[in-house]
Amino acid sequence: MELTVTGRRALIAAGDASAAALAARLLDEGATVTVIAPEVTATIQDLAERGLLTWAARPIATSDLADADLVLTGSAGLERTRRSPSGTGSVVLVGGGPGDPALLTVAGREALEAADVVVTDRLAPLATLADLRPDVEIVDVAKVPGGRSTSQQEINELLIARARAGRAVVRLKGGDPFVFGRGGEEVEACAAAGVSVRVIPGVTSAIAAAAAGGIPVTHRGVTQGFTVISGHVPPGHPDSTIDYPALAKAGTTIVVLMGVRTLGAVCAALIEGGLDPATPAAAVADATLPSQRVVRGTVSTIDAEAADLRPPAVAVIGPVVEALT
Ligand code: SAH
Repeated sequence: MELTVTGRRALIAAGDASAAALAARLLDEGATVTVIAPEVTATIQDLAERGLLTWAARPIATSDLADADLVLTGSAGLERTRRSPSGTGSVVLVGGGPGDPALLTVAGREALEAADVVVTDRLAPLATLADLRPDVEIVDVAKVPGGRSTSQQEINELLIARARAGRAVVRLKGGDPFVFGRGGEEVEACAAAGVSVRVIPGVTSAIAAAAAGGIPVTHRGVTQGFTVISGHVPPGHPDSTIDYPALAKAGTTIVVLMGVRTLGAVCAALIEGGLDPATPAAAVADATLPSQRVVRGTVSTIDAEAADLRPPAVAVIGPVVEALT
């Protein structure tokens, strides 16, 4: 059965876990959902309290049926629903997660399955490309002949040109598209060109690399926050906008991306800003991949410990590094 439920009033006459899953699917597809059941799961109650659906705590009555476009008593009634195809090209920015294909979201996988063109780069979960249909065009913008990287301008133009040719374009990125991923620029470029664009968030390495190394970025009683910075330009560089003395005093976990080369300078600036030189630190390279490596030390020693690590790596600075050891 194929069913379009967008804008329809769906009535679910059940309150169990499968009813909750059904409600979530229907809400995702744009239906207005009412659950009528004397008792419901905590998830349904939560959806009701958040105003996402209406819950009437009573048995269903025949008079309820008049207000509904479709009535469902459990997930059995609904097979996969589909949004109607638009017939025009579009761009979807997909956050691919840190590298392990299992950490790509379900929505990201579905976008890949529907893609005609996948524009990918180095840190995207490349293993997922193996599952693409053979006719899908894969454009790797990390490399062009001659070893130069493709400019952002060229990438934007490529996305727009393929979408204008009527193709479903996925821009597959590592982590989350909006965490140092230049996703914002691609969204702006597509919007300016009148090309339909949407974003599927991803599992960012800023959190996942730490987790993969056994480090929680926050931990009750240890730290009440975390700050993610880019080490792309070192402290003191004219392009650096980070207030290192403020960061050193902030009391949050500090997570450094793109910082293998500049880690020593970042740590020195934090110590100079007042961070205790004995503060634990770690670096996690190739997180979630079979080649993952973790080194630990302190903010004074981590640069030397990490000297033989190659990018990509995430550095984590703060007492959370020892929270679970
Ligand atoms: N959008 C990405 C980050 C892009 S910047 C995200 O949300 O994760 C690129 C940086 O991400 C790398 O320099 C490195 O610091 C980090 N990174 C990405 N994947 C990583 C991985 N598997 N292991 C460790 N660091 C990773």
